[in-house]
Amino acid sequence: MKSLSIRWRLTLWYGFALAVMLCLFSLVLILLVWQQALARTDSGLREELQEIGLEVSLADSASIFATQAAARFSQHDFYEFIVTDESGQVIFNSSDHEQPVVTAMSSTAELNQERLETYDLAGSGPYRIASTRMSGSFGALNVQVMTSLVPLYHDLAALQWVVALLLPLAVLAAIASGQFLAGRALRQVQQVVDETNAINISSLDRRVQILNPDDEIGKLAVAVNSLIARLERAVNEIHRFTADASHEIRTPIAALRLEAESILRSPRSPEEYERTLAVVLEETTRLGKLADQLLKLSRHDAGIVRCQHDPVQLDALLLDVVEQVKSIAEDRQINLIPEIGTTCEILGDDISLSQVFFNILENALKYTPVGGDVIVKLNVTDKSAVVEVQDSGIGISADDLPHLFERFYQADPSRQNSSGGTGLGLSIAQAAVFQHEGTIEIQSQPGQGTKVTVLLPLYQQTDESNPAVVEQFPA
Ligand code: ATP
Ligand code: MG
Repeated sequence: MKSLSIRWRLTLWYGFALAVMLCLFSLVLILLVWQQALARTDSGLREELQEIGLEVSLADSASIFATQAAARFSQHDFYEFIVTDESGQVIFNSSDHEQPVVTAMSSTAELNQERLETYDLAGSGPYRIASTRMSGSFGALNVQVMTSLVPLYHDLAALQWVVALLLPLAVLAAIASGQFLAGRALRQVQQVVDETNAINISSLDRRVQILNPDDEIGKLAVAVNSLIARLERAVNEIHRFTADASHEIRTPIAALRLEAESILRSPRSPEEYERTLAVVLEETTRLGKLADQLLKLSRHDAGIVRCQHDPVQLDALLLDVVEQVKSIAEDRQINLIPEIGTTCEILGDDISLSQVFFNILENALKYTPVGGDVIVKLNVTDKSAVVEVQDSGIGISADDLPHLFERFYQADPSRQNSSGGTGLGLSIAQAAVFQHEGTIEIQSQPGQGTKVTVLLPLYQQTDESNPAVVEQFPA
């Protein structure tokens, strides 16, 4: 079944709550009215008892009392009286009933003590009856004063009818006004929905209108706008990434095509074929590296990189990477100096960490002139392993420093071709360091050298430590 709209649900809840409250209110009102009316009746009955008590005290005999009572109380149209003596003999009776309708109070009961009861008398309906025992000079008497409750019941029934008619009307009116008010309040939500629906991938620069940023709907609109802004940034980044990636792929492909076309134009010497094949090899290697880097980054972005979280001996891993790049250092006659005076263990993925330090060292060696120094240091603080790669190379300008981790960013376009890089090495290193909950920072002075610092949390071994594979999801 299709669920109701918020507007209807709000209205129905509002109507239901109001109906319950009105029912309770009406119930309390009817009870109060009933109690008040009964209290008034009882006080009238008591007054009549006092009046009749006065007559009893003034009379000298039962017959005088009967005469005086008949003169005074017989015509009463509201109250009825039955007075009997101790033996049950009726002395005075102004009611339609021949005998007392309730049993007389016991002869041991205290004099003038009242008893109030409600009785449903057959044929006459409900009656309220006050009875007491009083004594005169001619002996003790049982007195009963009664009044019919039928008029009271009629009044109450009329009140109940009024309530029963007004209550549904009030609830209907509340539902109608609730529907109107909820509609007004939710119109702004509908506006946010419409404006959000109108935004698509090509109009991510548009924003939802915020009427009042402090109310709930304003806050919703602010949240929607901030989501759209994040989406816009992400989409722009993807566009830039795709454009940069296709540019980077087109360059080696164009070079390969040029080489192939020129070599096929006329017969060539074996040396020329050899040179062309060397170019083909270089460009395909470059393409292969690029494909590999793009794959790594897109897997990081998609959050599907599974990162092994195993204890890793960081000092040994650094020495391994130094060993891997040793031949490059030797070719470029650079002094590669490992200063690893400590051992330390971290939790992570050794392949991914090797890639981080390989990229950093490769840069240091690439951008340091012949005869320069590259120092690799490992230190340990309270909670972190600190790896520093310091070179005496060409350095990086202050303008370029904030952009180094951007994809395809290369500081100086003039050195791009000679370096053969794609500008993805540091992006990959940063993604991997973040995956290990570490930080990476670059300090540099143009002409003096660059220092890359990587902080990685130390492995705090506990009894329950349980190395596990952790899946990375993008922030
Ligand atoms: P790739 O690593 O993808 O082959 P790349 O080395 O150009 O290419 P990154 O490693 O991301 O890309 O580095 C980005 C840019 O930062 C480099 O192009 C270079 O200009 C600058 N850079 C990085 N490390 C150093 C360094 N040690 N000294 C001077 N410049 C550096
Ligand atoms: Mg690099």
